[in-house]
Amino acid sequence: MARTVPQTAGLYPYVPGKPVETLLREKGLNRAIKLASNENPYGPSPRAVAAMQTAASEVHRYPDGDANGLKEKLADFHRVSRDQILLGNGSNEVLELMIRTFAGSDDEVVYARRGFIVYALATQAAGATGIAVPESDGLSHDLDAMLAAVNEKTKLVCIANPNNPTGTLHSNAALQSFLDQLPRNVVVIIDEAYYEFVADALGDSVHELNHPGLVISRTFSKAYGLAGVRIGYAIANAEIVALVNRFREPFNLNLLAQSAALAALDDRAWVMARVSETNAERERLESALEKMGLSGGRCFGNFVLLRHSKSGEILHRLEDHGIIPRPLAPYGMAEFLRISVGLPEENAEFLTQLETIMTSLS
Ligand code: PMP
Repeated sequence: MARTVPQTAGLYPYVPGKPVETLLREKGLNRAIKLASNENPYGPSPRAVAAMQTAASEVHRYPDGDANGLKEKLADFHRVSRDQILLGNGSNEVLELMIRTFAGSDDEVVYARRGFIVYALATQAAGATGIAVPESDGLSHDLDAMLAAVNEKTKLVCIANPNNPTGTLHSNAALQSFLDQLPRNVVVIIDEAYYEFVADALGDSVHELNHPGLVISRTFSKAYGLAGVRIGYAIANAEIVALVNRFREPFNLNLLAQSAALAALDDRAWVMARVSETNAERERLESALEKMGLSGGRCFGNFVLLRHSKSGEILHRLEDHGIIPRPLAPYGMAEFLRISVGLPEENAEFLTQLETIMTSLS
């Protein structure tokens, strides 16, 4: 048996949502609705698809290793300088690079117990110690307790806003008060993967939040509908970006991804329209779950939470009907299922099946 680094012990691979093909094979079905990975069911802007088709004729060439065009466009978009932008193969890579750059053995990384799971995985992979702080009400990050967990060993704090899987949101004012009390040499990642869905309520965090170690991460996987091509980025101080770039693989943002992101940024109207449709559908799903007594709490983002003591049985029965939710047992939330907002007809089908299941369960 090959010998691994010690941090492999107790580390399990990230378990993504069940792929449609897997469920079809398992259940002998010919059609399934995946509501398991917080994807955008509408897909990306047609302009992004056209840009990738054009770029396909260039894939024998390496991409621009620094993604200069995209960096410039994102810098303009956010009114920051281009050396403040770090690009990644999905925001997962951005998070992992940050943790790898700033935390090693003897260092601590503070995150919420039910924060996005990649913080814990990347921390352990880096050989650092994760400090998982319990939520105040089981769902919402306890910012005071997270501050209290910070000590001289703390190199990073990770906060998802909104958080996946709990769907909770903190205002920029609450976060700024947290940042004001955080030591200036700690790097703090505010992971805004679902930012576009809450932009109106939250405001412009890039310019409203201040801390020398602040890193805001965003993604094209959710509102932009480009999860399959893997594009994420962070906005931070130029010094932080320069340090993390030392660990970044050359060409980490592939040619199709760069062209898709550039085109997607030119079609803001398309993104905003999908965001408002998704938010309206999420509210519809939330009020239906509420009426059935199944609500797992108010969610910000493109997903809702279902809570029931028999959630395992509900999961299997939904899968029997070709619907794929996400079980939250890996987060210690065994009573919860996370349901991503789908197309209106997919959400309607989910609710119809759920009602039938609940009638037979009671
Ligand atoms: N952060 C949060 C809070 C997420 O939910 C996700 C996706 N599930 C990510 C980061 C990573 O997304 P991606 O790598 O596709 O950008």
